Amino acid sequence: MNTIIQRFNKIKSNITSIKPIRPVNIVAVSKTFALNHIQPLIDYGHKHFGENKVQEAFSKWSELKNSNNSLNLHMVGKLQSNKAKKAVEIFDYIHSLDNQKLADILSKEEQNLGKKLKYFIQVNIGNELQKSGVQAQELDNFYNYCIKEKNLNVIGLMVIPPNDNNTNKYFKILDELNNSLSLKELSMGMSADYYEAIKNNATFVRIGSLIFGNRG
Ligand SMILES: *Cc1c(COP(=O)(O)O)cnc(C)c1O
Repeated sequence: MNTIIQRFNKIKSNITSIKPIRPVNIVAVSKTFALNHIQPLIDYGHKHFGENKVQEAFSKWSELKNSNNSLNLHMVGKLQSNKAKKAVEIFDYIHSLDNQKLADILSKEEQNLGKKLKYFIQVNIGNELQKSGVQAQELDNFYNYCIKEKNLNVIGLMVIPPNDNNTNKYFKILDELNNSLSLKELSMGMSADYYEAIKNNATFVRIGSLIFGNRG
């Protein structure tokens, strides 16, 4: 069997062994990998894939998505507002909704295209300058803006925790914030920490290198 499929199935069985309360979706993050490397997992029937650049997503996934409308493409990286229009065309989920200007444009483009996406609001839980995301104290306001003023379908929160050995603590805080907004989905956990994320009720884990190997 193909190595990628083996790794993928190993992750799936690890997840099952955690006995998560809610179903967990694996977003296979295929950024930087060429389509021929990803193809075995598509052929295997997996439906959720993640990219972090709009242009790369277009060149890799346009044709496939046209011929297979059950594929779901996730934008996991920082989304610049000048790329938002294109993002609405190609993506089904955006994990990095984090400012009003972006919400404004996404909402407008959804109307223009007659398309609704699913969104995660990215939270900058460590208030790190170099990281995107809204700060926890701005979350209520921004969430209300997105759903009430902009009619965006926000399904959960997303986090990339600070790299400081307190990952579990950050995941717990995100789970609490998610509950405080009664959101159903929670996007957290990558190759190195998806176990901990799922133990803290993540429902979408974003896994790249553990499936596809190291990025060059
Ligand atoms: C690249 C990326 C991932 C996947 O990272 P791995 O460590 O390879 O699993 C997950 N989330 C985001 C936002 C990413 O940019």
